[in-house]
Amino acid sequence: MMIDIHTHVFSEHLWNTYQKKSKKLVSKIISIPYFNKESKDIPKIPDIEELLEFTDTHPNVYALGSIDMDDEIEKQLARHEELLKEGRIVGIKLYPGYQYFYPYEEKVIKIAQLCEKYDKPLVFHSGDLFDPENKAILKYSHPIHIDELARKCPKTKIIISHFGFPYYMETTNVATANDNVYVDISAIVVEFSTSKETRNLQKQCLKDLQRVFTYYPLMKEKIMLGTDFGGDETPLSLVKPYIKIIKKFLNKSQQENAFHKLAEKLYFN
Ligand SMILES: [Zn+2]
Repeated sequence: MMIDIHTHVFSEHLWNTYQKKSKKLVSKIISIPYFNKESKDIPKIPDIEELLEFTDTHPNVYALGSIDMDDEIEKQLARHEELLKEGRIVGIKLYPGYQYFYPYEEKVIKIAQLCEKYDKPLVFHSGDLFDPENKAILKYSHPIHIDELARKCPKTKIIISHFGFPYYMETTNVATANDNVYVDISAIVVEFSTSKETRNLQKQCLKDLQRVFTYYPLMKEKIMLGTDFGGDETPLSLVKPYIKIIKKFLNKSQQENAFHKLAEKLYFN
């Protein structure tokens, strides 16, 4: 029984495709909204209200919330507290690189405290930015800045998404230095335009991860299955390579941790 903590599944069609792709190995998924559904930065990702219409009626698909840091925050905090109380979201995701703020800023601390109150994770898009409109700024999404937030809010569970790609080593440095920081491996192997390129990417990714896990064996206890699945029409269409990565580097009990135990502890406690 596996849990995928990072997908963008918000329709019957995507959910069916996902289940086929994962050969039903994955029984529970978390679907993540974007702060602004009008945005073209990440196509076809709904905002939280639209996502809830789907997740509320699909028992094995869980939603995160997402707060638009450029909009009025108090109002959104109140709404998210309601959703946390009702159990309709299992965490909150923020996008520093797209909204120009550092994770340790005062306005984030308030959100981290809300997550702490309900004992749910605060998730950050970290590292590389999908940015066709050339609006994102990398310095804000660099995983190194999570360290300061983790120290300011030691009781908030924090997740660095995408292993901070391509900053694996920096992400690992932060996650192993802070008990309250964890990592999902989503979107580190995407589908390129030719299968040769895709294969090469996967090979290189394994080499880089080998380096990381050799330097920091403890990191094997801190990663979770995530795919960033967004449908067959997108480069984020892979599921099995992520399962393979976990099986390649982790021993049996670490695999259980990465496939479901850690997710249960962090999101479904
Ligand atoms: Zn994503």
